[in-house]
Amino acid sequence: MSHTPYPASYYAASANPAPARDHLSGDTETDVCIIGAGYTGLSTALFLLEYGFRVVVLEAAKVGFGASGRNGGQIVNSYSRDIDTVERSSDSETARLIGAMAFEGGRIIRERVARYGINCDLKSGGVFAAFNAKQMHHLESQKALWERYGYDQLEMLDQGGIRNVVACERYTGGMLDHGGGHIHPLNLALGEAAAVESLGGVIYEQTPAVRIDRGSRPRVHTQHGQVSAKFVVVAGNAYLGALVPELAAKSMPCGTQVIATEPLDAELAAALLPQDYCVEDCNYLLDYFRLSADKRLIYGGGVVYGARDPSDIDSIVRPKMLKTFPQLRDVKTEFAWTGNFLMTLSRLPQVGRLGDNIYYSQGCSGHGVTYTHVAGKVIAEALRGQAERFDAFASLPHYPFPGGQTFSAPLSALGALYYSLRDRLGF
Ligand SMILES: Cc1cc2nc3c(=O)[nH]c(=O)nc-3n(C[C@H](O)[C@H](O)[C@H](O)COP(=O)(O)OP(=O)(O)OC[C@H]3O[C@@H](n4cnc5c(N)ncnc54)[C@H](O)[C@@H]3O)c2cc1C
Repeated sequence: MSHTPYPASYYAASANPAPARDHLSGDTETDVCIIGAGYTGLSTALFLLEYGFRVVVLEAAKVGFGASGRNGGQIVNSYSRDIDTVERSSDSETARLIGAMAFEGGRIIRERVARYGINCDLKSGGVFAAFNAKQMHHLESQKALWERYGYDQLEMLDQGGIRNVVACERYTGGMLDHGGGHIHPLNLALGEAAAVESLGGVIYEQTPAVRIDRGSRPRVHTQHGQVSAKFVVVAGNAYLGALVPELAAKSMPCGTQVIATEPLDAELAAALLPQDYCVEDCNYLLDYFRLSADKRLIYGGGVVYGARDPSDIDSIVRPKMLKTFPQLRDVKTEFAWTGNFLMTLSRLPQVGRLGDNIYYSQGCSGHGVTYTHVAGKVIAEALRGQAERFDAFASLPHYPFPGGQTFSAPLSALGALYYSLRDRLGF
C-alpha cells in the first residue's frame, strides 16, 4: 500500500491535528467520487454535501498534500490572466459571468472559515508591488478593470504609501487590495476536510485512483478497491500524472519554491510588514511573501518548468529574499520546500466534462487559492442542474502546449526568460 507523507515544510510542521484516515479497501458506491483532496476537490465536496449529494473523496497521499498545502497562502483575486484576456477571447456574456466570479473565491474562503470555525490564521489585505512606472500603469488599468466588474476594495499606493506597508526600497508604488489576504494554506485544507466529514462526506487517504472506467455509471479503481458513482470529479491538478491523458496533454506541471525563516523578533517583523499584509510583486516571474502567525517571513519565488525538484531550494529563494529585505541577512532559513502548480498555455483555468458524467477543473497557473474555491461551487452547481457558470468557464479555449510533452518545458522556460528580461530592463 502507498504511504506518502507530507513533504517537510513549515506548514506540515505547524499543521493542526488531523485524524488518521483509512485507505479505501473494497468496493463502494456514492453519488459523486472526487479524485484529489486539494482545494478544488474539497471545495467541490463541501458544496455538494451542502446540496444533499453523497460524496467520496480519494486522495493519493494526504489532505492538502499538493499545492493546496504548500502554497504562499496569498488570497489573490481574479485569475492568472486577468478578465481583460477573457473579454478578448469570449463573448460578452461569458466575460460578464467569469468577471463576476473573479472576486467570489475570497468571499467563499472567509465564509467557510467562519461557518466551520476553521483555524487558519486568516488575515486581510494583499499588496501588488510595482518596480517601475510601466508596472504602476498596469496596476492602474487593473484597478479600472476590476471596478468595471463592481469590485471596490482597491487603493493605489504611491512611493510613500508602499513604504508604509513594506520596508523595501525597490518598489516605486503599488496597489492594496483590502479584499485580499492570507492564510495558513494547509490548515485551511485540513479545516475544509473536517467540514466535509462533519456533513457525512468520506475521505480516503493514501488511495491513488489508478484507472477510471468511463460509461453510464463510471467506476474509479484504486489499488485495493473501487468506487462506482453517478459522477466523477477529477481534481488532481499538477499531481494527476497520466490518469486522464486528455488533461495531461494540454497542461504542464511547474514547480515553485518557498522558504520560511526562523521567527523574527516582534520589532523586526513589524518593521518589515507593519500592517501584516501579504505582498506579490508585478514581475512575470514574481516573488511573493508574508508573515506567518508566529512571525516568520514566508518567501516564495521562481518557477521550474516541467516541475523537476531543485536540489538546493534555499540557494534559489534566499538571494531573492535578501534582495528585497537586505535587513534579514543574519536571519536563518528554517524551512525550504517546493510544490507544483499546473500551467496552461492561456494561463486561464481549464474546466469541462469528459462524456456527460466526468467533470474536471485544473490549471489555475499558480494563482489558484481563490479560483479553486469558486471552481468547487460551479462544479457542484452544474451537478445539480445549474450549469450556466460552469459552462462559461468550459467555453474558454484550451490549447495544447507547443513542443508536446518533450519540448514544452524548455520552450516555456525560454518564453519566461524573455519576459523576465523585459522585467529586469523595465520595458
Ligand atoms: C509553492 C506554491 C505556491 C503557491 N502560492 C500561491 C498563492 O500564494 N496564491 C495563490 O492563489 N495560488 C498559489 N499557488 C497555486 C495554488 O496553490 C493552486 O492553484 C491550488 O492549490 C490548486 O489546488 P488543487 O486542489 O487544484 O490542486 P492540489 O492542491 O495540487 O491538489 C491535488 C490533489 O490531488 C491528489 N491527486 C493527484 N492525483 C491523484 C490520483 N490519481 N488519485 C488520488 N488523488 C490524486 C494530489 O495528491 C493532491 O493532494 C501556489 C502553488 C504552489 C505550488
